[in-house]
Amino acid sequence: MIIAIDAGHGWPDRGAVANGLVEHSANLALARRVCELLRDSGHNATLTRDTGRLVSWATRRKRAEGADLVCSIHHNAAPDPSIGGAQAYLLPGPSDRLTGAAWRILDGLPAGLRPGKVFQTHPTDWRKRAHRVLSSFGSPSLLLEVGYLTSAVDAANLHRYYRHIDTLARPIAEALAAY
Ligand SMILES: [Zn+2]
Repeated sequence: MIIAIDAGHGWPDRGAVANGLVEHSANLALARRVCELLRDSGHNATLTRDTGRLVSWATRRKRAEGADLVCSIHHNAAPDPSIGGAQAYLLPGPSDRLTGAAWRILDGLPAGLRPGKVFQTHPTDWRKRAHRVLSSFGSPSLLLEVGYLTSAVDAANLHRYYRHIDTLARPIAEALAAY
């Protein structure tokens, strides 16, 4: 089984920025560690972006080609700072296997980011950015929004978790390995 990890955004596209956290760097740090943990446990894992620079959709797709599963890692933002928590997005009509993987990730994340929510995307509404990311891959894919950088609660937790990145990376890697 090949698992591709996609770190969302990349300089100059920083993604969400709030409460001292910058999405594109957090995505990359977490994606790298998830990939490393998967490799350490004998899995075939690959990164679609391994530097701070933005990678095109075409290159991401090419690097994820042949993967059995793609996990795109993001952090969320909202105008309302009371909105928080982890979320997973799937293209409409996902398989039970893919839905199961999404829930395993969310249930494994540390308590400060739970309870997670799983959404199916739509090409034209508020879910359209996740839809665009997921549609760019040719393999079954899920998009993880680890938490809201704009939530003071999530951001404080994320600062803590990122000091011990395996708190986040390990449950994600284990859930993906169980796919
Ligand atoms: Zn993002």
